[in-house]
Amino acid sequence: MGIEKNLVEIEKNIAHACQAKNIARSEIQLVAVTKTIGVERISEAISFGMSNLGENKVQEIMDKYDKIDKSAQWHMIGHLQTNKVKYIIDKVEMIHSVDSIKLAREINKRAEQASITMNCLIQINIGNEVSKYGIDYNEAESFLDEASSLKNLRICGLMAIAPHFDNNEKVRPYFKKMNDLFEKMKREGHKKQMVYLSMGMTHDYLTAIEEGANIVRIGTGIFGDRNYSK
Ligand SMILES: *Cc1c(COP(=O)(O)O)cnc(C)c1O
Repeated sequence: MGIEKNLVEIEKNIAHACQAKNIARSEIQLVAVTKTIGVERISEAISFGMSNLGENKVQEIMDKYDKIDKSAQWHMIGHLQTNKVKYIIDKVEMIHSVDSIKLAREINKRAEQASITMNCLIQINIGNEVSKYGIDYNEAESFLDEASSLKNLRICGLMAIAPHFDNNEKVRPYFKKMNDLFEKMKREGHKKQMVYLSMGMTHDYLTAIEEGANIVRIGTGIFGDRNYSK
């Protein structure tokens, strides 16, 4: 399947979901997840309108950064080791995966040195899975309070990777729970910080949008199956 055809299909689905929610298409951001994908195919996706690219490894951002049109914006969506923040601080538009206060402090420090403010989302371990990173759901508010004191960090929402189910109705409660937290934080004085809710991937992005996501991260649905052996 070609990238263009896949994108047409995804756009149609997102437009439909927006219509059902009575919101404008512009309210949903699509991040094209480019991990393992080569620069040629990434550039092809850019030519079809993709401008937000997501990677989960620092090395891949560094390898691709100079070869990709600078109009593209990179999103760090995977676990970020503290000692690697310095490599991407001047390259990414947003870090979706802030999952510890130690990491938040390091991003703040490097952002200050670079004279920028980094857009960050707090990753929540919504399924309480040992295999996944993220702040505990119940500790999200105290984490937000602590991270809010860091001047070169702009907390602008929440991110989650929901547990995987073959049936999307099983994942829906996790998305709902994320949206509950997002709305609660807005009500409790953090409206300016709760702008983005990043959740939903290829198999569940429509369910995520139905439940309030405004950033979806899609890889396979755009580029086809990933080849990790290359
Ligand atoms: C790989 C990845 C995605 C995209 O997954 P697909 O199923 O290929 O759409 C989204 N978010 C994160 C954090 C990822 O690592």
